[in-house]
Amino acid sequence: MIRLTDIKLPLDHAEGAIEAAIRAKLGLGKDGLRGFSVFRRGYDARKRGAIQLIYTLDVEVAGEAAILARHADDKHVQTSPDTSYRFVAQAPEDLKQRPIVIGFGPCGLFAGLLLAQMGYRPIILDRGKAVRERTVDTWGLWRQRKLEPESNVQFGEGGAGTFSDGKLHSQISDPHHHGRKVLTEFVKAGAPEEILYVSKPHIGTFRLVTMVESMRETIQALGGEIRFTQRVDDLLVDTAADGTRQLRGVVLASGEQLLSDHVVLAVGHSARDTFFMLHDRGVYLEAKPFSVGFRVEHPQSIIDQARFGPQAGHPILGAADYKLVHHCTGTHKGNGRSVYSFCMCPGGTVVAAASEPERVVTNGMSQYSRNERNANAAIVVGIEPKDFAAFDDSGSPLAGIALQRALESRAYELGGRNYSAPGQLVGDFIKGQPSTEFGHVQPSYKPGVHLTDLAPALPDYAIEAIREALPAFDRQIKGFAMHDAVLTGVETRTSSPVRIRRGEDYQSLNTRGLYPAGEGAGYAGGILSAAVDGIRVAEAVARDINASR
Ligand code: FAD
Repeated sequence: MIRLTDIKLPLDHAEGAIEAAIRAKLGLGKDGLRGFSVFRRGYDARKRGAIQLIYTLDVEVAGEAAILARHADDKHVQTSPDTSYRFVAQAPEDLKQRPIVIGFGPCGLFAGLLLAQMGYRPIILDRGKAVRERTVDTWGLWRQRKLEPESNVQFGEGGAGTFSDGKLHSQISDPHHHGRKVLTEFVKAGAPEEILYVSKPHIGTFRLVTMVESMRETIQALGGEIRFTQRVDDLLVDTAADGTRQLRGVVLASGEQLLSDHVVLAVGHSARDTFFMLHDRGVYLEAKPFSVGFRVEHPQSIIDQARFGPQAGHPILGAADYKLVHHCTGTHKGNGRSVYSFCMCPGGTVVAAASEPERVVTNGMSQYSRNERNANAAIVVGIEPKDFAAFDDSGSPLAGIALQRALESRAYELGGRNYSAPGQLVGDFIKGQPSTEFGHVQPSYKPGVHLTDLAPALPDYAIEAIREALPAFDRQIKGFAMHDAVLTGVETRTSSPVRIRRGEDYQSLNTRGLYPAGEGAGYAGGILSAAVDGIRVAEAVARDINASR
């Protein structure tokens, strides 16, 4: 099979145009082309009104070797790589101990699925509820201002990505094509087939819920066990005379002990109590940079127009997204920071994403159709561990959590102490005056937005940086700094505030048998990368179980 890359065709090309482009590219006669499939379809929207589709194609031809030889100098004509997944191990028949996976988000789900597919019958524990019950609790905050600390947007079956836009692209290096395995499993579980070939696939919330249930059933059918409302509150660690530490199992909130020398820790970035427990138990972890900011909402039509011009609304393009970065020149002490857009949700809604009482956190989600009125994205500022000291100067690696908690509590106060989010119009924010009335843009955040002055919501350097960035973004997307666009706060959970360091064998640097994984451990950022990390860690666990027999 030959892979052709960078095949460009107009957005509205005729049905036979791909085949014609292949023949032209490879100089094929009438019978030379046996078949082809689209491996990837993206677009180049840089020229307004002349958007091009860019294809990567896998092509079956007669006389493949000769054609490849003829195009040896053309980097866009290569042998197609083998992207199929091969299991690295198989469980021994007399498996003595089952591995444990803590957390059933994308990382734990794929770690569990792979271990189950290899025959290791994992026990998977999640502190939250099964996804249907969890949905009721999550909507409880959005509709009735009732937060369930153990069952919400962050905690429960499917993890943090369940109520999301379900974006599945990632920029991780993936030499073993694990991302393809993830997408293939998602399609088996009910995701639309197109996620296998569009350049920026997304699934949307409703489908994610049923997919997660389907994957749970697959794991169970393979002998895995999934237990909900089972929070891990402690670790059982043996310390040898030479100081070597070996994990022997976990202790649940109920007091029950589960023994295993292989435990995947995939708890996500919001498991703050678990991070404290790990620190208390002496597991090595470090403070890690992350970002804080606000969500911004614009009419989706403004973004579509700016990105696609007269071709806005084309069904292949869907609702437009954006990715923006601004490097600040600001005069404020500590500035020179970068402000960037994060987790952009075209045609979506801003959601309440808190997991702790009396705190407010924003995030974004959408349905597959992405047809809500507003576009939203986080506009965030990078912060470093040195910034955490203003909130916790103890030198603890967990100081970033103090910063997050302080900002989330302040947002709760500014929002009126009832889980409404504090908000401000972009025009007023830039001028430094409080907002009192919404304009053209109605915010989507539920249970509500309380208009105020957002300046006290973040440290001064972050406010100054965002004030500088918004007009700069307007130069890239006309209308971005429109007066009526709405900011809501706060975004504090862009990534984990800690890294739980692991070695090349994927085990904790100082606690053998503990496999820190996914976003919470600082090894992923997003659904796809967390799932890929779950696969990598499952492979490491399987290899180690087989090697230690
Ligand atoms: P998580 O998904 O956070 O899962 C961790 C799991 O561990 C949870 O289910 C939790 O209940 C459980 N847990 C925690 N502590 C314990 C304990 N002590 N004992 C037992 N269980 C425990 N990413 C994208 O790529 N695309 C998007 O469109 C997108 N949109 C998002 C929208 C929202 C609203 C949110 C909140 C996040 C979004 N993300 C998105 C980010 C994405 O969800 C995360 O990057 C991803 O879920 C991380 O996966 P994970 O498995 O590492 O952790």
